[in-house]
Amino acid sequence: MRLLILNAGSSSLKFGVFSAGDNTREVFKGSYERFRNGGCEYRFRHGETHERGAAAFASPSDALKGVPDALKRFDLDSIDAIGHRIVHGGASFSAPTLLDDETIEAIAVLTPLAPLHNPANLEAVRLCRGLWPDVPQIAVFDTAFHLTNPAFATTYAVPERWRAAGLRRYGFHGTSHKYVAHRAAEEVGRPLSDLQLVSIHLGNGASVCAVNRGQSMDSSMGMTPLEGLVMGTRSGDVDPGAFGFLARELGLSVQEIEDALYDESGLKGLAGSSDMRDIEDSAAKGDLLAQLAIEIYAYRARKYVGAYAAAMGGLDAVVFTGGIGENSPSMRRRICDGLDFMGLQLDHDRNMAVKLSGPAAPQIQAYGSRVRVFVTETAEQLMIARETAATLTAARPTRLLRLPIAVSGRHVHLSRAAVDALFGKDYVLDQATPLRQPGHWCAKERVTLVGPKGKLASVAILGPLRERTQIEISRTDSFALGIDVPVRDSGKLEGTPQVTITGPAGSFTTEGLIIAARHIHVNPADAARLGVEDGDYVGIRVGDEDRGLTFGRTLVRVGADAFTEVHIDTDEANAAGIEVAGTGELVHI
Ligand code: ADP
Repeated sequence: MRLLILNAGSSSLKFGVFSAGDNTREVFKGSYERFRNGGCEYRFRHGETHERGAAAFASPSDALKGVPDALKRFDLDSIDAIGHRIVHGGASFSAPTLLDDETIEAIAVLTPLAPLHNPANLEAVRLCRGLWPDVPQIAVFDTAFHLTNPAFATTYAVPERWRAAGLRRYGFHGTSHKYVAHRAAEEVGRPLSDLQLVSIHLGNGASVCAVNRGQSMDSSMGMTPLEGLVMGTRSGDVDPGAFGFLARELGLSVQEIEDALYDESGLKGLAGSSDMRDIEDSAAKGDLLAQLAIEIYAYRARKYVGAYAAAMGGLDAVVFTGGIGENSPSMRRRICDGLDFMGLQLDHDRNMAVKLSGPAAPQIQAYGSRVRVFVTETAEQLMIARETAATLTAARPTRLLRLPIAVSGRHVHLSRAAVDALFGKDYVLDQATPLRQPGHWCAKERVTLVGPKGKLASVAILGPLRERTQIEISRTDSFALGIDVPVRDSGKLEGTPQVTITGPAGSFTTEGLIIAARHIHVNPADAARLGVEDGDYVGIRVGDEDRGLTFGRTLVRVGADAFTEVHIDTDEANAAGIEVAGTGELVHI
């Protein structure tokens, strides 16, 4: 399958042609940039052929008209689909989406959230529909990766009617953060779902993302791409009180303030150039403003690394990408220096010797550094190509079989040491009730959970005993206990909060308190019928017309003699109007 991938910005048009399949790869790269006086510069690369020159296009949308000719010249004019980078997908676009009249209209409605970017993106979509009327077009959103951010990360503490109008944090550069996080996990050789990463994208726009066990948890850009780091021409974090001050003291309008924060701030506002190479050169020659700009830039980024390590409760790796992240060893060093206290030490020689031409993402941490540090090129276009191809090939039926659903109430899995402490040495639990999973049972005995806010009594004990004690409660229960509890897959207990369990013979305080991520147990025969494999994520459509909903991201766990059923917790069941048990339809996502 041959794909045309377009990134139509307000000041440039970048595009690529990809051959999509098992190993999706770029076969052509092109750009039209530096638009001025009715003309622009273009660059094309096809294999060993490099071309650059001037073209008579006045704007990025004008330049799109040149793309069919360019493709024809390189014999690439038959394309199967077009993938578009769309900057803002709001709260509704959580996945790549086929562009039709309805979705185009829904994206247009989001224009107030990204007034510079979305109109340019949509203009390209409309032009492409005219140029290639029979070719399907897919939108891949910069915001989509961050829609997993929890409400406490996305909600601004502002009046309710502002929030109702749509004021919230979204985050951007999602395609880049997702790509480099996957690259880092490949290099570490562990699943992304096991890792806590901070991804630092430092280009003309710049942002940091906390990628917590495979999901974006927080990112430094907010409702717009203005919040967060110092950028080429954007300010990043500024006290919102500045608006009133600037209006009163300098008599500036909202438009003037906004324009200056987007286009006259950042490195340009601090030291006169938006280009980090110029700033580094000036600083080296003794320019004090350039030196201060570099210090502010690095300090702001370092603060976010620390904040996100704290937010995730751990840090396995930091990944640098974007023009500055990839090419400036001195900026990488400034950001990482001083982080030894959290187990991050750079190897200065490796940092200086980074070469990104090979396939590997170089690691630049010192020997013995607990936190790894990677540098990798971002490949947003490649990621968009992969997602476009996946969306097109998701032609398999979306709904299959009905599955039984079991609702898990709060319960504990105890270790031998926990049983000894709670019931007495070598106590044997009464395996009163067998469960549907073969070999599993619910004990007659009960325990109490104790947290700083309150207690949960009569909590079930499920067997058999395990190596590590694990306590599974709902989010509602977490407020009753007064403990902030993460959603985790069973067994992934690193860094989980402590809770005290009490029983008739004593108490036992242990980590391992989780809200169990919903999952589906499947035996191999059912897995084959359902078209799923161990480790896949699927959706489960449940409930009736009134309270029906689809649970996304449900982990498939294939076990040799598993009884096929979906496990959700009481909060999820209540949301869907399911009482003790129900059934649901599997939905491929
Ligand atoms: P965009 O966000 O537009 O894709 P890039 O990722 O290309 O931007 O990053 C552009 C930034 O990278 C510019 O500030 C540029 O100065 C910086 N940069 C590129 N090469 C170097 C280098 N060798 N040293 C320092 N900064 C560099």
